[in-house]
Amino acid sequence: MIAAQLLAYYFTELKEDQVKKIDKYLYAMRLSDETLIDIMARFRREMKNGLSRDFNPTAAVKMLPTFVRSIPDGSEKGDFIALDLGGSYFRILRVKVSHEKKQTVQMESEIYNTPEDIMHGSGTRLFDHVAECLGDFMEKQQIKDKKLPVGFTFSFPCRQSKLDEGILITWTKRFKASGVEGADVVRLLNRAIKKRGDYDADIMAVVNDTVGTMMTCGFDDQRCEVGLIIGTGTNACYMEEMRHIDLVEGDEGRMCINTEWGAFGDDGSLEDIRTEFDREIDRGSLNPGKQLYARRLHKTTRRLVPDSEVRFLLSESGSGKGAAMVTAVAYRLSEQHRLIDETLAEFKLTHEQLLQVKKRMRAEMEAGLKKKTHETAKVKMLPTFVRSTPDGTENGDFLALDLGGTNFRVLLVKIRSGKRRTVEMHNKIYAIPIEVMQGTGEELFDHIVTCISDFLDYMGIKGARLPLGFTFSFPCKQTSLDAGILLNWTKGFKATDCEGEDVVYLLREGIKRREEFDLDVVAVVNDTVGTMMTCAYEDPNCEIGLIVGTGSNACYMEEMRNIEMVDGEQGRMCVNTEWGAFGDNGCLDDIRTIYDKAVDDYSLNAGKQRYEKMISGMYLGEIVRNILIDFTKRGFLFRGQISETLKTRHIFETKFLSQIESDRLALLQVRAILQQLGLNSTCDDSIIVKTVCGAVSRRAAQLCGAGMAAVVDKIRENRGLEHLEITVGVDGTLYKLHPHFSRIMHQTVKDLAPNCDVTFLLSEDGSGKGAALITAVGCRLRDAEQN
Ligand code: ADP
Ligand code: MG
Repeated sequence: MIAAQLLAYYFTELKEDQVKKIDKYLYAMRLSDETLIDIMARFRREMKNGLSRDFNPTAAVKMLPTFVRSIPDGSEKGDFIALDLGGSYFRILRVKVSHEKKQTVQMESEIYNTPEDIMHGSGTRLFDHVAECLGDFMEKQQIKDKKLPVGFTFSFPCRQSKLDEGILITWTKRFKASGVEGADVVRLLNRAIKKRGDYDADIMAVVNDTVGTMMTCGFDDQRCEVGLIIGTGTNACYMEEMRHIDLVEGDEGRMCINTEWGAFGDDGSLEDIRTEFDREIDRGSLNPGKQLYARRLHKTTRRLVPDSEVRFLLSESGSGKGAAMVTAVAYRLSEQHRLIDETLAEFKLTHEQLLQVKKRMRAEMEAGLKKKTHETAKVKMLPTFVRSTPDGTENGDFLALDLGGTNFRVLLVKIRSGKRRTVEMHNKIYAIPIEVMQGTGEELFDHIVTCISDFLDYMGIKGARLPLGFTFSFPCKQTSLDAGILLNWTKGFKATDCEGEDVVYLLREGIKRREEFDLDVVAVVNDTVGTMMTCAYEDPNCEIGLIVGTGSNACYMEEMRNIEMVDGEQGRMCVNTEWGAFGDNGCLDDIRTIYDKAVDDYSLNAGKQRYEKMISGMYLGEIVRNILIDFTKRGFLFRGQISETLKTRHIFETKFLSQIESDRLALLQVRAILQQLGLNSTCDDSIIVKTVCGAVSRRAAQLCGAGMAAVVDKIRENRGLEHLEITVGVDGTLYKLHPHFSRIMHQTVKDLAPNCDVTFLLSEDGSGKGAALITAVGCRLRDAEQN
């Protein structure tokens, strides 16, 4: 773009008649750099006017959008025809682009005569002539039976609203055929071809010769994003950011703009320097050696923009080969878009499919609750022995541990009841090294106890023997509030000798081994339950907890009569659904994609937590990465080159989805993010990556919403209500920070459970505060029992 601006001052007003005027002033005049810089600024203003909706109608430099959105990436191939009308000759070319080791271009061409009387006759006659020549060419090439893609280089100013349309604004050069101005030349040509009926052609693109030139060079040099013609006339084109182009919908990516800069100065804006300027140009064009001329251009350009490195590349038969290249790119892109859409369609779930997911979730929940089916059920519906939400009378100092997420934390929570209820918290975060997460159980619990010891010292409360709530966010089978047998590790954990053991016992043993302090472990708490309790402390209507963080899970208040695994029919108990395992019996296989399967296969717990693996933070980035790898292999992305980065597992973190999908982000910033990741992307690549991220996160939010719809409708039916008003306490970084997840999830719940009015409340530190509240409730109940 900078190059185009620069070149502007230099080549404007190159007109044949001026060439003749050169003589005595030839060496005398030179434009000073100040003048050139001034012209640069004027041209820049003109360009801006041309691009803006308000000023375009009166702008001298028309800045025509060409609908060419990308330069060749080297993966184009195929057999194309190019028509080149508007230069000195009318040429037809056949361009074969092949891919044997290296991309090669093979061309054959034929020049056709365009008699003066046809150029000046009727438009119909002109296009009949073009169609006839094309027929002749195809006959000679023996391709009359094929319908090859055709690129039409039509080097006159045209308005385009798509690539395969060109409405002639006005004839220039020697052409003056009637009835063509204001008409679409593709339609005229198609009509002429149809009328003949002896062959077929698929005109895919109308191309200006500047664009053709840029595309030919772009084929050899990826950085060629400016096209320049200095011949019979002069013109330039360049790749402009879509967000600067008012006249075309959309802000994403770039489009080639045909400046039609020959008209610069037509409004008198160059009068002051016109004669001098002309001379400078003319002198150059008189010089048959051309070299001086080119050197001067390069030198001046480089002097005026020292910050840009501008490379000049001579185009070879730009208008012919270039048109074929535009067509080849259009052809490649349309094929690619079709295949990309086809692949991503698997991530688009219909309302019907989502209703199915809801229905299946409901069935799995029932199975988990029933004695007969509980053993084999995948959605375990674990009783938590939390029988009520807080009532505001909770009081005291408590310790809480939060294990099961990204961080391990130890907390001191001071709850005060009374008129002004307060909760004061102190916490410290400790890392759990991966070798501890995946070492022995004893090492893991020794590490936990060491952290607690450090925290007690830090707070100065080592002798206090405080009641403790242990937030342990893995599926546990509880038999009481303070006993929880770990069923299986999930997320990144894999410590040995823990599955099948009571984690409260393991913790107590760890404390004993240390012989340094004592603690009163009152409750083992799932983070979903902690989340629900924290929100219920603020809003009594909150009877559901939801986590969308590293993993995903939900809990809710279920009727005791429905919980067959616990005796008693009265009242309610919070059930930890452990819905992450939904689908582990294959009931979601019809909507799982090959990418989901790949992510699952390479996870620590293959075959497990299939629903969670389609929803939560630990996996979304991996799904995206797998799609990107596949797309790259298929040549849709990164020029088909799979980088080491892309091969690195977990490199594409879910936070990047949030960044990339942010509405405020321009495409350039998406590119910067990918760059940061070591992924060298073009604008087109970034658009595709963004689309992929959107498809993956959208499906995640919808699936999560479908599960939630099952939960709220079950509660509504449990209570025999037509209409249910309920609040869900939510925690998890994905839910909180992703720009669209929560909105899409809420909408899905609304769509799938229309009889429920669901409010979502963000939880503040459910795992800490919630655990303390549960511990407080536990202490109260224990005291009541003892008295
Ligand atoms: P946990 O679930 O482990 O208790 P979080 O709720 O903080 O902890 O969730 C952590 C997960 O959130 C990480 O696995 C990560 O993938 C994801 N995450 C982190 N930052 C973002 C973000 N900006 N947008 C979306 N997801 C994020
Ligand atoms: Mg958490």
